[in-house]
Amino acid sequence: MKKILFNNIRQTYNFTRNLELLFSDYELIRKKHFSNLCLDKLNDIYPNCELFLTHSATGALEMIASLIDVQVGDEIIMPSFTFVATANAFVSKGATPVFIDINPNTLNIDETLIEQAITPKTKAVIAMHYAGHPCKMNVLKEICKKHQLYLIEDAAVGFGNNYKDQALGSMGDFGAISFDVTKHISAVQGGLLLINNEKFKERANNIYHLGTNRNAFQKGETPYYEWVDIGSKYQMNELNAAYLYDQLCQSDEIFRIRQELSKTYYSKLKFLEEKNLLRLIPKDLVGSNIHEFYIILNSKEERERLRIYLNQKNIEALFHYIPLHNTGMGLKTGRYVGAKFTEDISNRLLRLPFHTELTINEVEYITSLIFNFFFNK
Ligand SMILES: *Cc1c(COP(=O)(O)O)cnc(C)c1O
Repeated sequence: MKKILFNNIRQTYNFTRNLELLFSDYELIRKKHFSNLCLDKLNDIYPNCELFLTHSATGALEMIASLIDVQVGDEIIMPSFTFVATANAFVSKGATPVFIDINPNTLNIDETLIEQAITPKTKAVIAMHYAGHPCKMNVLKEICKKHQLYLIEDAAVGFGNNYKDQALGSMGDFGAISFDVTKHISAVQGGLLLINNEKFKERANNIYHLGTNRNAFQKGETPYYEWVDIGSKYQMNELNAAYLYDQLCQSDEIFRIRQELSKTYYSKLKFLEEKNLLRLIPKDLVGSNIHEFYIILNSKEERERLRIYLNQKNIEALFHYIPLHNTGMGLKTGRYVGAKFTEDISNRLLRLPFHTELTINEVEYITSLIFNFFFNK
């Protein structure tokens, strides 16, 4: 049997046609034809936000760190259970990351621990929507309003999911979404910055254009453009945009396939959860546009045995997020608030193959092997 990959690229139909078009006319590249088509689609999803297509969510987070003017010693509150990019963007400007424990049921930041972590140096709170599970945005908004902090959404894996009818990434002052090849809608490499705070829209344009007022120039507001701010080349390149546009056009189909897969995983493995052999993703996430299908075993030892068992059967299952507060850089730069749910979940979590090239039959095969693991030892 062929190897079942953890993730895969979607076999796509229109990408080569998009490329042929792009290379038929220099003007299309120069005028960012596919970036603009992508933005048209994305503007429908995030009508309240100013949008910037970036080379990565990492780049979008770095723009946010520049926009809020992070200074040495500023504290940024974030979950410990997240990807390094969340912390790096701010720490590289000298910020102290204040890592907060997760709620073990949602795997999102435990919002009840945030207020005790706030000091006069706190500048922002980052909500990361784990696996696309919405954070309690109403609670986070209230805390940030009360303490005058910026609310930043790391919605890197949140594309396609909502919190109370509002798209993830569009509710904080800032949001970052990833279109990396490891995510469910992909530009191969790419990202999106969302700005939902009027105050920052103009400056964001300058930072995005290498610290120049090129945007004002393009709108005819100034006779030439010049260096006015810090900045970098954060833009997405047109090759990536040509691929992303195809993915956005197919997103309904991509989400439909993934929802079927997650429902199948859930219904097939439900019995094992009822027998307390493992824990599944929260029921209310099944059928939404989640980024991954994970299971939580009863011990690290069992997680490792199942992971190795599946790998021996040619099925790639992975775990992730070494708690940031326990990493070399985390220990050196940050501090931690909470109990030990982050370590505990990190030790017991296993992520199963989940992508559009996976078939229902393959999901059933994977779940049958998980049954074998428990009952035919
Ligand atoms: C993938 C990811 C990022 C980084 O996204 P890139 O587009 O690869 O830079 C940031 N935060 C989280 C939570 C992620 O999963």
